[in-house]
Amino acid sequence: MFSKILVANRGEIALRIIRACREMGVRTVAVYSVPDANSAHVHLADEAVCIGNAPSSQSYLNIPSIISAAEITDVDAIHPGYGFLSENAHFAEICESCQIKFIGPSPHAIRSMGDKMAARETARKAGVPIIPGTKEAVKDKDEALKIAKKIKYPVIIKAAAGGGGRGMRVCHNEVRLVSALMTAQHEAEVAFGNGAVYIEKYLERPKHIEIQLLADNHGHMIYLHERDCSIQRRHQKLVEEAPSPAVDWKLRRKMGEMALRAAKAVGYTNAGTVEFLLNEDGQFYFIEMNTRVQVEHGITELITGIDIVKEQIRIAAGEKLSIRKQDQVPLIGHAIECRINAEDPTNNFSPSPGKIERYNAPGGPGVRVDSHAYAGYTVLPYYDSMIGKLMVHGRNRGEAIAIMQRALEEFIIEPIKTTIPIHKEIMKHPVFRRGQMFTDFIDRMQGEQRTDKDKLAAEPQEAKTK
Ligand code: ADP
Repeated sequence: MFSKILVANRGEIALRIIRACREMGVRTVAVYSVPDANSAHVHLADEAVCIGNAPSSQSYLNIPSIISAAEITDVDAIHPGYGFLSENAHFAEICESCQIKFIGPSPHAIRSMGDKMAARETARKAGVPIIPGTKEAVKDKDEALKIAKKIKYPVIIKAAAGGGGRGMRVCHNEVRLVSALMTAQHEAEVAFGNGAVYIEKYLERPKHIEIQLLADNHGHMIYLHERDCSIQRRHQKLVEEAPSPAVDWKLRRKMGEMALRAAKAVGYTNAGTVEFLLNEDGQFYFIEMNTRVQVEHGITELITGIDIVKEQIRIAAGEKLSIRKQDQVPLIGHAIECRINAEDPTNNFSPSPGKIERYNAPGGPGVRVDSHAYAGYTVLPYYDSMIGKLMVHGRNRGEAIAIMQRALEEFIIEPIKTTIPIHKEIMKHPVFRRGQMFTDFIDRMQGEQRTDKDKLAAEPQEAKTK
């Protein structure tokens, strides 16, 4: 086992990794940017090194600075968390060349799955269903129009190097396609340094279902069932649950096996997630593979009892998976996660950074809070707006929802705006309670709320005229 790990991240995931290391008797090194000096991960780690200024490019994405910190502190391994350098194959290679273990898959696996367009092709060749669309980058508008005509509107333009819900554009007709193509290519070039875009058929009301995998270097690969991440805003996840109310054991097995197939095609090791869209007719399609630990990994831990971060560390250290047989992977009860973001849900989820004056995290049976926030902590404007994850575990979905509602009532984060109020709305919404939500759930729910408001505003008016 490693004796010291550097955590190349910040926020709740840095804490999560430091906690796993503590329990495993592994020492930790935190890295931080200048304004993060007072962050919880800096205090909890055994050592901490400042790696640069606020902008990520100068700190959490600054490879020379991070490698220097690793060398000064003499660590054996680096855990990249999620985001930042976690899916950067070049960084994984540099770690390797410096004799520092990168806790994640091989640079080859990261690279193969990092280009979403190439990953589609890998999946297709492995016999995994993909959404109809282009095999290669779309060159010009004529090619785009031809493909869209073939697969029929609506279609979605996606950046090959995209991620985090960015770089996607839905087009319902030719005019929109032509205008969107140019901007999509340009934006992809600016945002990701790679202007390649591809086109897929746009599924109108899918569910987002993903399969968590673990693979060691001894040939064992298992799936830890699915997560349902259909509740999204702007194609970014807001609520996740495991298992999915839409997946039975037959479908679970089928999707699990397809996920393993995609991962095996690139010789995958460590933790990873294969994402699918599931149509109402039960057909599912590969969309991408995330070659890192995911934000929502905790709900899978709650239903399986498997500590994914510890498994990641053990795998990287050359150990075998703690559970190696698929039929021995537990599935107990139901777990739900609400992402608590510093955002204003009533104002198109615009970021709401600032100082937290009052903070009270919920507790009690079935509640887990992973957060780096505390009273007096300032949510910085430079980074991701997520300030924590509220996870609950109940014997069944109904119980999990009840625990979540109770926990959301207890959660106090003031005076900044957070997503807590919208989570309360989601938990009581009949469509969510029936488990019948698709990726358009939030848009529909907010549409209903607007209509209700309009009605309320209209009522006194009518009364007056009467
Ligand atoms: P990212 O890498 O940016 O997260 P994904 O490819 O994983 O992008 O897609 C994110 C979300 O965008 C999906 O969960 C889904 O809601 C939506 N989406 C992506 N592709 C399609 C598609 N072909 N049809 C409908 N929705 C899609």
